Amino acid sequence: MALIAILPGDGIGPEVTTEARRVLERLGLDLSFEEAPVGGAAYHAAGHPLPPATLDLARRADAILFGAVGDPTCDSLDRHLRPEQAILGLRKALTLFANLRPAKMFAGMEDASALRPEVARAIDLVIVRELNGDVYFGEKGMRTTADGLRQGYDVMSYDEAEVRRIAVAGFEAARRRRGKLCSIDKANVLETSQLWRDVVIETAADYADVTLTHMYVDNAAMQLVRDPGQFDVIVTGNLFGDILSDQASMCVGSIGLLPSAALDVAGKGLYEPIHGSAPDIAGQGKANPCAAILSAAMMLRHSLGEPAAADRIEAAVAAALASGKRTADLGGTCSTREMGDAVLAAL
Ligand code: ATP
Ligand code: MG
Repeated sequence: MALIAILPGDGIGPEVTTEARRVLERLGLDLSFEEAPVGGAAYHAAGHPLPPATLDLARRADAILFGAVGDPTCDSLDRHLRPEQAILGLRKALTLFANLRPAKMFAGMEDASALRPEVARAIDLVIVRELNGDVYFGEKGMRTTADGLRQGYDVMSYDEAEVRRIAVAGFEAARRRRGKLCSIDKANVLETSQLWRDVVIETAADYADVTLTHMYVDNAAMQLVRDPGQFDVIVTGNLFGDILSDQASMCVGSIGLLPSAALDVAGKGLYEPIHGSAPDIAGQGKANPCAAILSAAMMLRHSLGEPAAADRIEAAVAAALASGKRTADLGGTCSTREMGDAVLAAL
């Protein structure tokens, strides 16, 4: 029996993970669930955003369903006690280096996109972003120049093993989909990107069935808006992926529809909606649970070996939306529970 850790977290996290759990329970698979506090909720209950018991559960579990962390009452705490440290701590402790963010246009949702409907309709892509390296984790600091000016610096670095494992994740994702991989870098300017490109090309030798292309990140930002339908899987570094994945999500529309996964080499993963804790609507039953429900589908596909069940959930969300059920973020009147009910009914 697979053990799923449920870490609801703060704000709307508990509301949306409850609906995702109901959907998982309805599938009739051999799953067990264990819940633990994380983020601000854990700080208030146990004095730390990622208590040892929560980390222990995350390590024992076969997969983790994560809600969101963020709590305005914790704003004045030391940085290491802030809720956001919990998700950074989990990614680091479990070596979750591959961030998968699908962006797909659901039928009838084109009006929520920032793009023209005929452009938006073609979006069906996955961004595979490296999550444990790059400029975020290099040496950084503040110093004074010879002229007495303050100077900040952040070192960008990747070694070839780090690039290879994310390249493999990108090729594997492309192989499961339409067989197209676009690697995004800035190889005309950056040494890290030159290494990135070399290693991606070496890795391609094992994936003759995948068509590999390369694109500079500035061009990629433009192409994502001009013609997003050209992309299947994008693989890129931590910094570029951070920016491009937010851009891609706004091309699709509501933040309440988009799931994500963070995976280790063995395929264990943490699954979470891309949205945050949304303190402005927390506790009001207004949150859209679809992103959390679709995160549960990704969990079935990537960590639990149940791709057919994942397909069923994705089809049920699409059917519920197509039937006109909408939460407030999509201009509708459904509550979180009613939206969850609509997905269960479609299942
Ligand atoms: P955090 O600090 O936890 O990231 P945030 O306020 O910075 O929180 P989000 O939580 O992502 O960022 O919220 C951004 C906006 O999107 C808010 O207005 C929020 O109400 C809305 N929002 C986020 N998630 C959802 C959802 N699932 N359903 C409806 N609206 C949402
Ligand atoms: Mg935020």
